[in-house]
Amino acid sequence: MAKKPDYPFERLDYGETKEVVPGIHWIRMPLPFALNHVNLWLISDGDGWTIIDTGYNTEETREIWESVFADLLDRKPINRVIVTHFHPDHVSLAGWLIEKWDIPLWMTYSEWMQAQLNRFGGPTADIDARMKFYTEHGMEQSGIDGYRKTRPDFSKIILPLPTGFRRMVDAEKFVIGDHNWQVITGGGHSPEHAALWCEDRNVLISGDQVLPRISTNISLQCNEPDGDPLRLYLDSLEKFRHLPKDVFVLPSHDRPFYGLHARIDALGEHHAERLDAAVEACEKPKTARELIPHLFRRELDQHQLGFAIGEAMAHANYLVTDGRLSKSRGDDGIIRFSQV
Ligand SMILES: [Zn+2]
Repeated sequence: MAKKPDYPFERLDYGETKEVVPGIHWIRMPLPFALNHVNLWLISDGDGWTIIDTGYNTEETREIWESVFADLLDRKPINRVIVTHFHPDHVSLAGWLIEKWDIPLWMTYSEWMQAQLNRFGGPTADIDARMKFYTEHGMEQSGIDGYRKTRPDFSKIILPLPTGFRRMVDAEKFVIGDHNWQVITGGGHSPEHAALWCEDRNVLISGDQVLPRISTNISLQCNEPDGDPLRLYLDSLEKFRHLPKDVFVLPSHDRPFYGLHARIDALGEHHAERLDAAVEACEKPKTARELIPHLFRRELDQHQLGFAIGEAMAHANYLVTDGRLSKSRGDDGIIRFSQV
């Protein structure tokens, strides 16, 4: 059994805040999904504050932000918004915060671009293209209908972003308040996710790249059918290995924790087991849809089924790259994976 992460803090209520490191405050915001919360961070920054991630665009989140502005911030302004990646629970209120405070938005280039593409109905936001892709990978009609019904329209949820932004690049160092922070980018979950590492304080804001309990969703996307996001993800986990063993990790979901290296090991083992299970299951040709019960033991709701087929395709493509599975399209137009 993998070692449990060491959590120094109890869970917060929605909207509650806690100073987890001097000058770094944790806020837990609600999400309208099975994964019901996201963590955001407020860092004391000279005469104001830097915000890391923005929460999901709902009335409730905006109300919580208003009360945070009124109570927590010592009447100091927000100086800057940093967004780890383009997913709506992280970026969707960036436009609102930026307009309110007239401040810059910091993101990596790919994440900013991907957020803009999704807002304007680009390829990965095209639900018909996505459903065609799922159908080719064996998703049944009830799964398609369920996904269409439960999937929010991200073009409406992500508020307009400013036309300009400040690009963050991998390994870049910059100052927040009195401390240096460094950008550590990673792929697989999103194209150029930015984690932030503060050596002075031995703190890592890991975003969605390293979570203490659930494994980060790694999905193949319809705009890149031969992509290998799981390899990108596992490779980028290695970039955290050089951090100190006792680094304090501030993740986007669950609670702040110690035990980064054990968690990286456990994630590697978790995916290796799933990869082996997928190879075994493909003794007879299988679609990605048919792989899902071999990779996920628990019941999945319709929204989660979309994540699950994305994960199944990602694992299968990894194995195709490694030469352990082959991928072919049948006369019925359906894509199946078989042992080589
Ligand atoms: Zn995410």
